[in-house]
Amino acid sequence: MPSPQRPSSTRDWPRLPDVRAELQDDVLERFLRYVRIDTTSDQDSETYPSTAKQRDLGELLERELRELGLEDAELTEHGYVFATLPGAAGPTVGLIAHVDTSQDESGTNVQPQVVRGWDGGDIVLPGDSDKVLRAEENPILAARVGHDIVTTDGTTLLGADDKAGVAEIMGAVAYLAAHPEIEHAPIRVGFTVDEEVGRGVDHFDIEGFGADFAYTLDGAEVGRIDDETFSASEVRIRIEGLSVHPGTSKGKMVNAIKLGARLIGRLPKDERSPETTDGRDGFVHPHRFTGTTAEAELRFIARDFDAAKLDEHEQLLRRLADELAAEEPRARITVTVEEQYRNMKEFLDRDPSVTEAAEEAARRCGVDPWREPIRGGTDGSMLSARGLLTPNIYTGGQQFHSVLEWASVQDMALSAATIVELVKLWAEPEWAARRQGAAATA
Ligand SMILES: [Zn+2]
Repeated sequence: MPSPQRPSSTRDWPRLPDVRAELQDDVLERFLRYVRIDTTSDQDSETYPSTAKQRDLGELLERELRELGLEDAELTEHGYVFATLPGAAGPTVGLIAHVDTSQDESGTNVQPQVVRGWDGGDIVLPGDSDKVLRAEENPILAARVGHDIVTTDGTTLLGADDKAGVAEIMGAVAYLAAHPEIEHAPIRVGFTVDEEVGRGVDHFDIEGFGADFAYTLDGAEVGRIDDETFSASEVRIRIEGLSVHPGTSKGKMVNAIKLGARLIGRLPKDERSPETTDGRDGFVHPHRFTGTTAEAELRFIARDFDAAKLDEHEQLLRRLADELAAEEPRARITVTVEEQYRNMKEFLDRDPSVTEAAEEAARRCGVDPWREPIRGGTDGSMLSARGLLTPNIYTGGQQFHSVLEWASVQDMALSAATIVELVKLWAEPEWAARRQGAAATA
């Protein structure tokens, strides 16, 4: 646990509620501006970014960063936005959020509504009266009576995943740029594209980014800090059968669709499925089945926190494919496995100070932090594996990828205040000295 002792260089601590209050209007204003810009990414696209419209938000962010005085702000050919806010001392801290939103719900024509000083009653979404946010179905919401709650109109997602993170980073950077008297570590801002389609950092130049470590602002409930994600792979099983005219196919046709269905029918039913697991249990999940009589393709994702168990999930699919091939030797069945990302914990454990600093920043904002493994991945999973340690910090957004998505303005401001505390903390010599290998790299 980080030392609770008050460091000498934060003379103005603990006046944090002021920072949060000061950030609140700006973060909300930015959030409402960003969510109106459609940035849905596209799983099936071959381009990078997967949709050109993600650049619309990138252009706006580049302009706004320049207006804040971050003169090196740039929108790269791949759609990333990078910028620097120089600091007084300490390691260079990366702050990362993704601009794209999920395809699970429409991100076109998002019409956010703000319920000021929510009284705890049902929030009926104006565009679809069947869509209602209720305190009794939603304990995290129930704990936020009196907050200003941002929701959708019921017809689209909100895009708090991850425009809450974008707005919070922008709000924190704007605050620090306006308060040059506050000592903080150098900051590198990085806004990514295509996180939702698993390609967020495909072209992310870690060396060019130049941060010593980073944080994604891509979490949910205030206080929750993630240093652990799934390890993930995609498994594709391709089945080549034999198509013959159905009128004259007796003894000849090999139907790839039927073979694929047979394999799906043999998946474990009560375990290893997303619909039957939670906590630390992993799964294999068929997410796409396409095909004709002649050929079919089954796509699975395999997920686990434990690398050995992930391997078992992959082996299970290979075994089912082998079984099928043995039963129907006329079919050609091929299995390909592609690693998608790895549990970032094994990398983050190499320098615990990075995650501990985020927890300490939360405490300085009056928040009691806790860690919980994410049943998914973040840009940080891939960045950490590639050498840029990147745990994940709460944004205050909730019920992501849904028309019932919502965010508390007070929580978003608290996340932004946490970032401010975090980069102040890293300017303190005590913290710089805690980094593993700090002496070697100093
Ligand atoms: Zn996200």
